[in-house]
Amino acid sequence: MQSSSFDLGVVGAGICGLAHALAAARKGKRVVVIDRDAQANGASIRNFGFITVTGQQSGACWQRAMRSRDIWLEVASAAHIPVLQRGLLTIARRHEALDVLEAFAATDMGADCRLLQAHQIAAYGDGLLTEHFAGALYSPHEIRVESREAIPQLAAYLAEHHGVTFLRETAVHSASPPKLETSRGTIHADAIVVCPGDDFRTLHPDRIAAYGLQRCLLHMLRVKPPQVDENMPAVMSDLGLIRYLGYAELPAAKALRQKLLAEQGEHIRQGVHLIVVRSADGSFVVGDSHHYAPTPPPFAPSFVDDLILDEYARVFHGPAPQVLERWTGTYASADDRLMLIDRPAEDLRIVIITSGTGASTSFAIAEEVIAELFD
Ligand SMILES: Cc1cc2nc3c(=O)[nH]c(=O)nc-3n(C[C@H](O)[C@H](O)[C@H](O)COP(=O)(O)OP(=O)(O)OC[C@H]3O[C@@H](n4cnc5c(N)ncnc54)[C@H](O)[C@@H]3O)c2cc1C
Repeated sequence: MQSSSFDLGVVGAGICGLAHALAAARKGKRVVVIDRDAQANGASIRNFGFITVTGQQSGACWQRAMRSRDIWLEVASAAHIPVLQRGLLTIARRHEALDVLEAFAATDMGADCRLLQAHQIAAYGDGLLTEHFAGALYSPHEIRVESREAIPQLAAYLAEHHGVTFLRETAVHSASPPKLETSRGTIHADAIVVCPGDDFRTLHPDRIAAYGLQRCLLHMLRVKPPQVDENMPAVMSDLGLIRYLGYAELPAAKALRQKLLAEQGEHIRQGVHLIVVRSADGSFVVGDSHHYAPTPPPFAPSFVDDLILDEYARVFHGPAPQVLERWTGTYASADDRLMLIDRPAEDLRIVIITSGTGASTSFAIAEEVIAELFD
């Protein structure tokens, strides 16, 4: 059992917990990160590894995504985490979608983005069905890492270069500074940040219950494309424009939503939209879908995957790609907020990303929380 005392105890070794460990370690704090699993197993390794800026809700979320992207670049370089892709190509298959992209491009968030006419899109990817598109928006802000490797690499970097202590296979039963009661005994920490992902019941359940959270289940696929395109940025399409709030909150999105409901109603009912990112071996990670429940079912019906692949086939050339891998993931979800910072005591914070934005915003959120606790 660990007997030393720490400045900060972090519960949860997902991206949210690791981000808090980084922010505190950068201030010279002695940090312990405690997780019940032997290795990363939650949302943070099941996601696209897609650090999304363009499309995030305007205001705090977009700014946090920009700041987090910069921190990702710093730690990726220091921890030798490969950045596999840069940029995002959001394709408009319909004119209503192009209207949304044009409206977005006219906002402050669109300042560095570039609207593309259909004939200009081919330069961004050989495999795209360019002739069927109305246009596209290229954003230079995004980066992509392979989460299942990047998260363990980030943890190893924190341990080796910042002296962060990791206690794995250790469940935390209570977290009230200066004590964490764990399955391996008591840990002392002056301040505590609880980053439990979508576990709402173990630590401070009454505080968390006040936010009315549920869980969102997503389907994910890894496919083998017919050809590898080294330069292709991440790709999204029309369906994403009514889900990502940076677009969906624009007035122009209303007409697109009506059109999509009429033409792709089943995709919308299953929460399907398209994100395609590339891995080092040339395979694509493709997703996703969204189903909400307090306890999502463990079953993953194949028709949902088929809907994802249907949208893929409307964007990429060629025969149906070979599916190499399928998995699901869950994250915390709230109707009224993208994240929450709860403050049960002066030296205790509960931080939950209540939307699919944790990879993109956790570093900035953690900087804010650690500054509040220690400055
Ligand atoms: C399929 C999928 C796709 C996504 N795509 C994107 C994307 O493209 N871009 C983006 O920005 N975000 C994306 N997200 C969202 C993002 O992955 C999450 O917001 C983020 O990973 C949440 O991180 P976390 O650290 O809070 O949670 P998690 O990664 O779930 O980590 C929580 C950790 O806390 C530990 N824990 C909880 N309670 C205890 C306890 N009592 N004792 C010990 N340990 C405990 C768990 O074991 C777990 O390891 C996606 C999510 C999914 C599932």
